[in-house]
Amino acid sequence: MSAINTIRTIRKIVTGSAQVDGAGVKLVRVIGRNDTQEFDPFLMLDAFDSRNPDDYTKGFPWHPHRGIETVTYLISGDIEHSDSLGNKGSILDGCCQWMTAGSGILHQEMPQSSERMLGVQLWLNLPRSDKMTQPQYRDISAAMIPRVQEQGAVVGVIAGHYGQATGATQGDYVKTLFLDVALEPDSEWQLPTTQEATLFIYIVAGAGYFANDTQNVIASHQAVLFEQGEQFVARAAGQGLRFLLFSGQPLGEPIAWGGPIVMNTREELQQAFRDIEDGTFIRK
Ligand code: MN
Repeated sequence: MSAINTIRTIRKIVTGSAQVDGAGVKLVRVIGRNDTQEFDPFLMLDAFDSRNPDDYTKGFPWHPHRGIETVTYLISGDIEHSDSLGNKGSILDGCCQWMTAGSGILHQEMPQSSERMLGVQLWLNLPRSDKMTQPQYRDISAAMIPRVQEQGAVVGVIAGHYGQATGATQGDYVKTLFLDVALEPDSEWQLPTTQEATLFIYIVAGAGYFANDTQNVIASHQAVLFEQGEQFVARAAGQGLRFLLFSGQPLGEPIAWGGPIVMNTREELQQAFRDIEDGTFIRK
């Protein structure tokens, strides 16, 4: 007899709040400052979904980051970016940009007018030992993301492993599982998970049921954080279900957060802002 895996139950459902950030971009901050304990190692999730370019084309002009990774994934849209390392490019439909700010980067992220801008930006914390690592950009094109076809499901593997599929990255610092899961109406999908890892999803379309709950349907544009456990179970409602799944081991380290910079202590934060004033922020 094999042991029955413990199914991850719902810990909380998060809707987030409408906010304006950058030079005037309307977005939904799904998780943020008040959630860092529960969502560790994830710091922030911003969601974009707009058919009105006025909501987003003002963009995020030049700004610094240190101590984190930003992971931008677009289901549809077009974000032009450039940075202090000399990188320049566009994030397009189905593409992901994995940016390690490390010791410091200056960049700008400018969404271009498109039929629909639908996507997310995740902030992933860096471990204390890697906060000041070398900055790096990783452009992950749609073609680099394996899309695993199964009965009733298509699973995009952006980061980590899923079955036999290896994602475009594993996460160099925090090993991260990042999946884009699309389920046909009424189909069920299960994922074996590491017991202690933090796991949450963000529903981008449709609605579904989770764990053993067959009563309470959860609709799109909400995040769901799950309790620890060995098995994640989702079932699509009648209109189908598409969600992004994020999982990683908690860091359990102190967080000192100042705008675009996230360090472990107040002193490190103050140092970062002094470096910006002194012009020594970018180390190369
Ligand atoms: Mn940024």
